[in-house]
Amino acid sequence: MARIVQKFGGTSLADIERVKDAAQLVKREVGADNQVLVIVSAMAGITDRLVNHASEISTLHDAREYDVVVSTGEQLTAGLFALALQNLGIAARSWLAWQIPIHTDGVHGKARIETIDSVGLEHSLAAGEVVVVAGFQGLGPDNRVTTLGRGGSDTTAVALAAALDAERCDIFTDVDGIYTSDPRIVEKARKLEKITYEEMLEMASVGAKILQTRAVEMAMKNGVRLQVLSSFSGEPGTLVIDEDEIVEQELVSGIAYSRDEAKITLTQVADRPGVAAGIFGPLADASINVDMIVQNVSADQKTTDLTFTVTKADLERAVATLEERRGDLGYADLVADAGVVKVSVIGVGMRSHAGVALRMFQTLAEKGINIQVISTSEIKVSVLIAEEYAELALRALHGAYDLDVD
Ligand code: ADP
Ligand code: ASP
Ligand code: MG
Repeated sequence: MARIVQKFGGTSLADIERVKDAAQLVKREVGADNQVLVIVSAMAGITDRLVNHASEISTLHDAREYDVVVSTGEQLTAGLFALALQNLGIAARSWLAWQIPIHTDGVHGKARIETIDSVGLEHSLAAGEVVVVAGFQGLGPDNRVTTLGRGGSDTTAVALAAALDAERCDIFTDVDGIYTSDPRIVEKARKLEKITYEEMLEMASVGAKILQTRAVEMAMKNGVRLQVLSSFSGEPGTLVIDEDEIVEQELVSGIAYSRDEAKITLTQVADRPGVAAGIFGPLADASINVDMIVQNVSADQKTTDLTFTVTKADLERAVATLEERRGDLGYADLVADAGVVKVSVIGVGMRSHAGVALRMFQTLAEKGINIQVISTSEIKVSVLIAEEYAELALRALHGAYDLDVD
């Protein structure tokens, strides 16, 4: 008897008919004598609506209450899914995160899973029940509900697969696998049969929302066999695997983008030791992640401009945090710009081949697209550009690295 995890995203649960269809996929596994843990997202569009409701009251809301609101979508689908299974004659029980519990840290809105108590779930599985877990939620050290960040039910699925030693973790979504770029924007994107954890990690971390970054991180660390597939097509999906399992490696495996970026520039910041720490310290204290950073060499040896990016959701808080400290930091102006997008080229082949970044810069130049900020890692190059060029840039780069399907 194998133990498997099946995670269903919002589109696969968009209405009652789809919930019933998804339950059939679980039934098939139960029929093959497998123990099944189902992880559910909220119905498509629900979490966005819940986030908006919280923002309509205040954009600078209390993160603990935000979590109480936005975690409710998954409670609904967990109950519905258990009912749909029971209706098919399958014993099933729903679980909210606090009932398991899935313990997280206390960073409300983007909490990290710390430990999972698997005793209750083991009992339920041993009793022949399908376990249906509400994804995306956790229990914080303050005994309050937390959420794991957008797309977090992927992480619930992988964390449970690791904690309960599942043989496989299937992520059912609205596309039939992982592509060389977002197939909704790049029509010529190619479906990958396999991708390495490392490449998927980079793709996710620069914005490809097909899998949440922490889910990939956790799968890589625990050797969870991950598969991304469609709940509609019945086709095999994409396997996420170790690098040494891939025989032939492409130079570039994918192009990703993130619209969830905002740029902040502080002008005429004093050019002396300790200033960067003075700026980024308070942001870190407020749990605001800073992504790309550029600082120019000071022309007059006294001041310089500093530009960095945060997520759009954190922009308002970041600006408020920096304005509060304006006196200490002593910058001239703070310019915030949410009209930017980050485009990234990813591939482990970059380690051994030069010229990947150059081809990116040339391709964007040919299209007349200005690069505002650049950042690189061993297997990735990212650039920040004006939002209106996102689609043009993605398609042009996809072609430039010979990724287009014929
Ligand atoms: P779910 O609700 O099932 O979790 P998401 O919307 O979170 O689904 O993720 C699936 C979406 O990810 C797809 O609809 C697609 O638009 C997007 N996506 C972005 N990059 C990629 C990629 N490289 N391959 C496949 N899908 C991608
Ligand atoms: N429902 C949550 C979201 O929309 C979690 C998820 O879908 O993974 O972000
Ligand atoms: Mg998702």
